[in-house]
Amino acid sequence: MPTPLLTVNSVTKGFGANQPPIVKEVSFNVYPGEIFALLGPSGCGKTTTLRIIAGFERADTGTIAMDKQILASDDLYIPPESRGIGFVFQDYALFPHKNVFENVAFGLRKVTKKERRERTLEVLRMVDLIDLQSGLPHHLSGGEQQRVALARAIIARPKLLLLDEPFSSLDQGLRQTTREEVRTLLKAEGISAILVTHAQEEALSFAERLGVMKAGTLEQVGTPETVYHQPKTAYVADFLGQTNFIEAHVQNGFAQTPFGRVKVDGEAEGNALLSIRPECLKMLASDAWSSGARTGRIVGQAFKGHNYTHRVEVDGQHYLVQTDYNCPFQIGDLVVLIAVSAVSVTPETG
Ligand code: ATP
Repeated sequence: MPTPLLTVNSVTKGFGANQPPIVKEVSFNVYPGEIFALLGPSGCGKTTTLRIIAGFERADTGTIAMDKQILASDDLYIPPESRGIGFVFQDYALFPHKNVFENVAFGLRKVTKKERRERTLEVLRMVDLIDLQSGLPHHLSGGEQQRVALARAIIARPKLLLLDEPFSSLDQGLRQTTREEVRTLLKAEGISAILVTHAQEEALSFAERLGVMKAGTLEQVGTPETVYHQPKTAYVADFLGQTNFIEAHVQNGFAQTPFGRVKVDGEAEGNALLSIRPECLKMLASDAWSSGARTGRIVGQAFKGHNYTHRVEVDGQHYLVQTDYNCPFQIGDLVVLIAVSAVSVTPETG
C-alpha cells in the first residue's frame, strides 16, 4: 500500500453537551490520486465528517493528517484556508453578483494579478466555461454552475477535493455526464477526492473505494465491487442495493437453500444470515432439474427497460430475481431458482 495522503483517525464529534456523538470513532485513509466516497443515509454524519476534514468543524477527539502533517488533533487545529483542501458545496455557494471569471478567480490568492488571470483562464478551459466567463451564475444552467464551483475549488491545485453531494441538484441525465466529466478531470489532474453522497449508484460508479456509514460509524470500507458483492453486514448489503436475506446452515463454505446448494463467501459456519442479490439468482423452467432447488411461482414483475425484476414466491416466501429484458417467463409461471453465489452477513442489531 502507498503512503496515505489523508488519514482520518478515530474521529468523534457531537453537538451539544448531553447529545450522543454524530460521528463516532471514524477512521479511514485516502491514497494519493484516489477517489473515495462516503455513502450513507441522510443524517448519518457524512457531511460532518467532511467538514471536520476541511476544518469547518473541530472534532471532539481523533486526528486528521494530510501528507504526514497533522491538521487537527486534541491540541492542534490548522484553519481551513491553510489545509490545501478544496471544497465543493451542495448548493455550489457561488457569489451571485460576481461573474464566472471572478467566482473562479476567487479561489486563488497570494499570487500576482497576471498569474491569477492565467490560471483562471486555464481552469475555465479545463471545465469548458471559457465562453461563459462574463456571465452571472443565475444565467447558467445547473451543470454549468456546478462546473464553476468545481473550477473555483481546484484553481489553487488542492491535493484533496471534498465534494458534498455536488450532483444532487442536477437532473438524472446531466448528473451522469457531469459525474463522468468531474471524474475525468480529477484523474487527469491527479487530485484526490472524497465524495459525500446518499446515492449508492453514484458512489459505486464514481469512487475507487468507498466507506459505508451508519449512524455515525463506518460499517465497511472497500472497493465498490467488494462492498456490493461481499458486504460484511446486512445493513451494507441492504443499503447498496436490492437483496434477498435467507437464514441457512453453512458447512465447509456451502449452504443448502431453497435455491439449491450454494457456495457461501464470508467466514460463517453453522447457522448464518445469507445475502443473495437478485442477479445472483437464475430462473429456470419448473421442469429443469436442480438438486434441492424448490419450485416457485412468479407473483410480480417490474420491467426496467434493460432488465426485469421478478418477485417469486417459494414456500410462502417472496424473493427478488433479476433477468434479462428478454426473459420468457410471465406472472403465474412456475419456475425453479438457482443461487449462483451467496455471502454471509452479520445481522442488524437494534
Ligand atoms: P445529509 O445527507 O442529510 O446532509 P449527513 O449524513 O451528511 O446527512 P450530517 O449533515 O453530518 O449528516 O448531520 C448529521 C446529524 O448532525 C444531523 O442530525 C444534523 O442535524 C446534526 N448536525 C449537523 N451539524 C450540526 C450542528 N452544527 N449543530 C447541531 N447539529 C448538527
